[in-house]
Amino acid sequence: MTTTVNDNLDDWLRDAHAMEQQAEKMLTAQSERLEHYPALRARIVQHIDETRWQQGMLDQCLTQRGISRSIVKDIGGQLMAFGQAVGGMAASDEVVKGAMAGYVFENIEIATYTSLIAAARAAGDPATVSACEQILVQEQDMAAWLLQHLPEVTQAYLARAAAPGVEAKV
Ligand code: MG
Ligand code: FE
Repeated sequence: MTTTVNDNLDDWLRDAHAMEQQAEKMLTAQSERLEHYPALRARIVQHIDETRWQQGMLDQCLTQRGISRSIVKDIGGQLMAFGQAVGGMAASDEVVKGAMAGYVFENIEIATYTSLIAAARAAGDPATVSACEQILVQEQDMAAWLLQHLPEVTQAYLARAAAPGVEAKV
């Protein structure tokens, strides 16, 4: 039994679409909970917009490849488990854990699009290569931002946690 390059690419694009739906849920939950970390919240809100744009790009890739939207909607079980694990961490009570989970999730996305770009090249689909390259830059920027700001988020959390009568966790 063999699987064609095109079939694998279709599957992985559907997985990526499901991953981005999970990302939107996770980021939205995080942004709605955050009250005392405005810079982190603003960057997450920006990335929600980017994530919706990414979903549209993946929709276009799938449509161009003849994959219907209704099929896309039903699939995505495999990555959901991971997304829920990360989402659970993100929804837990500490901003630091949420920022760390976000960084992990962005790196899953970086690996996903790096692999997708190679698959799209193998399939001879330059439109999908280009779409995934544009998405990859957004994921790399978000991962870099989260890593760069993790020390200050941690310091802000520690300061709030140590202050009497101050809400620290989100
Ligand atoms: Mg994404
Ligand atoms: Fe992302």
